Amino acid sequence: MQTMGMPYRKSTGIKGSFDAVVIGSGMGGLSVASLLAQNGRRVLVLEQHNVIGGLTQSYTRKGYRWTVGLHYIGDVGSPATTTWKLFDKVTGGGVRWAPLPDIYNRMVIGGRRYDIPAGAAPYAAALKGYFPKEAAAIDRYLGLVRSVSKASAGYFAQKALPQSRAEDVYDRMCGDFHDYSDRLTIDVLRELTADRELIAVICANWGDYSLEPTRSSFAMHCMLAKHYLNGGHYPVGGGAAFARSIVPIIESAGGVVLHSAEVAEIMVAQGRTTGVRLASGEEFACPLVISNAGVQNTFGRLLSAQVKTTSGLDHATSQVVESYAVVGVNIGFNRPASELGFDGANIWAHPSNDFEANLEAHRRDFEAPFPWTFATFPSAKDPSWDDDYPGKATVEMYGYTDFRHFEKWSATQWMKRGEDYLALKEKIRERLLEELFRHVPAARSALDYVEVSTPLSYETFVKRERGGFMGIESSPQRFRQSWLRATTPIDGLYLSGQDVSTDGVIGALVGGVLAGSAVLGRDLMRDIRTPIEPVSA
Ligand SMILES: Cc1cc2nc3c(=O)[nH]c(=O)nc-3n(C[C@H](O)[C@H](O)[C@H](O)COP(=O)(O)OP(=O)(O)OC[C@H]3O[C@@H](n4cnc5c(N)ncnc54)[C@H](O)[C@@H]3O)c2cc1C
Repeated sequence: MQTMGMPYRKSTGIKGSFDAVVIGSGMGGLSVASLLAQNGRRVLVLEQHNVIGGLTQSYTRKGYRWTVGLHYIGDVGSPATTTWKLFDKVTGGGVRWAPLPDIYNRMVIGGRRYDIPAGAAPYAAALKGYFPKEAAAIDRYLGLVRSVSKASAGYFAQKALPQSRAEDVYDRMCGDFHDYSDRLTIDVLRELTADRELIAVICANWGDYSLEPTRSSFAMHCMLAKHYLNGGHYPVGGGAAFARSIVPIIESAGGVVLHSAEVAEIMVAQGRTTGVRLASGEEFACPLVISNAGVQNTFGRLLSAQVKTTSGLDHATSQVVESYAVVGVNIGFNRPASELGFDGANIWAHPSNDFEANLEAHRRDFEAPFPWTFATFPSAKDPSWDDDYPGKATVEMYGYTDFRHFEKWSATQWMKRGEDYLALKEKIRERLLEELFRHVPAARSALDYVEVSTPLSYETFVKRERGGFMGIESSPQRFRQSWLRATTPIDGLYLSGQDVSTDGVIGALVGGVLAGSAVLGRDLMRDIRTPIEPVSA
């Protein structure tokens, strides 16, 4: 599959000067680059991997295609939603959305199955059907989901303000939100109900924000629940549809998008950004650098230790932790989805409703069941699939794990990690396949190709040192870090992506809007009401 942009070659003479350099081509990087391009800025995007798109990238092997970190998106069911408008704005209307079926998530807790339908009323009715004695608690829960999501507006709006103004209004704009974000998910839910199974069903997709209910902020839980309240959608053509539509927008304003271009250092002189130095040694001078590489990478790896200390960033980064890690398999089947029992609903499976015990057992012993597994069926979700890949089907599947089980290989190189690592990958393959065939037994006979990933893969492909796939943890502490915003203490250095706002592709996109607003000095959220003309590739 052809990637967008161009491969970087040292000294090939990228001509002229740029208004901004963007480090990283995830949704956070591409979205801010697109918005700046739409405002007449010439942008250079530098991506270390050989594919553009970050976690939204798709790749092909042996005649199959998978997307890495995008399996469903909420709130794009109608052009009237803000999420739809945001995607439309940054892609120039280039992405089409296909709805997942009405039952879009299937929660399996200790073998018991709970189907989750799209829509607030059907969801409430389904939960009340499963837990008739808990009807009042379910109504109170859904009321809180709405209130918290409303309260989050002020929290995000202050992130678009210049630092000096934001400090004055921070407490006022974030107060209501912090009432909820300071609390743990489990504490609020236990006040509503003593039914452990109901709590488990409500939280069964906590992998969507990668932090268990006993440690996650209740606000994160609610924002996620609200995001998927009306079900899920999938971009037609998979995650690559984003890069395919955004890169031409950047290029049409004179910008350049380079892959295989690893930034080694953000150069800073007298408290101001002066440009970037690549791993090849080549430098690109630019007074404006926007990093989509994540806060830990940006402050921990791309700034010199001295700049980090003098800018007061040592303390900041110690206040946030990288999220947990997953193992995964991307699977190809030589029969179509319709013959294999794939219907487009995601499956979230847990060994029991005691999530803490499940986690603890797996942390102690890798052989213990994965605390959750997630199986998703891209070929059943994408209406364009059968035209492009007739007679074939795919599954993407993940198991939550602990990076410590992989730590001993962390200093090894991709493809050269040794026999014991390969043996472990083989075990992961077998375990995840067995779990999958429990849910879709007909698929066993059509198995054709399997590719295994581990937390170490995330360092290679998106530079996550400890495999944390959601950036920083969504704990109550995270939402108290007022420095987690697009502006930084270094003049000319901005942050974009999920760490600036929240987890997920839409979180990364909002991070891009916040970064664009900070750079241009105006609230770009307003622009989403003005659609732009589609750009043809
Ligand atoms: C397995 C999995 C499943 C997921 N499922 C979903 C889902 O269904 N729905 C959803 O909304 N979200 C999902 N997510 C989360 C979502 O993919 C992320 O939250 C989002 O894509 C993050 O975007 P980002 O732009 O912030 O970061 P990234 O996509 O990680 O982009 C950062 C980019 O910066 C590049 N980079 C880093 N360092 C350098 C450097 N030094 N030089 C140059 N480039 C650099 C990286 O290579 C990367 O391309 C999933 C994630 C994973 C891993």
